[in-house]
Amino acid sequence: MLLKELEEEVTYLYHPDHLGSVSVVSNHRALPYERVEYLPFGEVWIEETDPATGYIPFRFTSKELDEETGLYYHGARYYEPTISRWMSADPAGWELINPMERDDEGGWRPKAGYSIIEAVNWYAYVSNNPVIYVDPTGMWVENEDGTFTAERGDTLYGLYGDDWKEASGFGDRDPGSLQVGETVGKPSKGSYLYASAVLFGLPISNDKDTGAWVSSEFGPRTLNGVEKYHYGIDIAALARTRIYAVGPGKVIEVGIDGDPENQKPSFGNYTKIEHDNGKSTLYAHMLKSPVFAKGAMVRTGYLLGEVGTTGRSTGNHLHFGVYSNGKPVNPRYHIRGDYIHGK
Ligand SMILES: [Zn+2]
Repeated sequence: MLLKELEEEVTYLYHPDHLGSVSVVSNHRALPYERVEYLPFGEVWIEETDPATGYIPFRFTSKELDEETGLYYHGARYYEPTISRWMSADPAGWELINPMERDDEGGWRPKAGYSIIEAVNWYAYVSNNPVIYVDPTGMWVENEDGTFTAERGDTLYGLYGDDWKEASGFGDRDPGSLQVGETVGKPSKGSYLYASAVLFGLPISNDKDTGAWVSSEFGPRTLNGVEKYHYGIDIAALARTRIYAVGPGKVIEVGIDGDPENQKPSFGNYTKIEHDNGKSTLYAHMLKSPVFAKGAMVRTGYLLGEVGTTGRSTGNHLHFGVYSNGKPVNPRYHIRGDYIHGK
């Protein structure tokens, strides 16, 4: 089969409803490929798929459905659609109960978007109104006027995606600096749903299993007295720790250590994957030649290689990079901060 034909075959078009739920998927010939209908709280009602082809995990409100457990992953929490409940309590906790908030003069005012349902039931999904509301991260409270109120752990990135600076009007503010109870404007239609739908798993198993930790953050750093910008994060881990694709996509670049054709020898053995929505991810310094060749299609969680120290590297680590329309962005915005710890 020609590579061109192969590429055409793996082009799918998603047709979401007003909540962003993936209801119809068609192929490049506009023929239906998958059809799913949901009950109001997200339980699958009708599912027509071709079992011979791949499973598409992004479903109700564009969230990733874990096929084995039947749970939806929302960043902060897992959601069980058959019983319409979160699997853990709202991390905002007691904050949900207080109907008042501080005003600018140090006094109190009624809290915008206060929900009696969420105050008494920390496991309720979108105040039991799933026909109108979505919960992009499992945390943000969506208010009736279209604004969002931050809960503990929320970030502007999580709500607005890549355009958070312009979209939120918060300029150069640290996207993680939001205060609990702070209210922000409505994201442009679809931006937060889509941004959160495309990525991300973790490039490496969690630190309890592997001892992985972030040894170098994204941003300026000094190496041998020279200031350089670090366009990714370094995740130090034991040699042979497995490295996984964080989202579905196509391998667009591979480098083999010592190969004269290697475009970026400093990365040693590396793989770069292009995802939807203009995003791509980079996995560098792998122990051996990458598992997948250029042009291969991968899914979330596919094994790409193992941690090594090939290329310009002083110890076993994964250099993990995230690019948005070719521009490096901080991978920390894409992985859960409580999952892999810093120094
Ligand atoms: Zn690095």
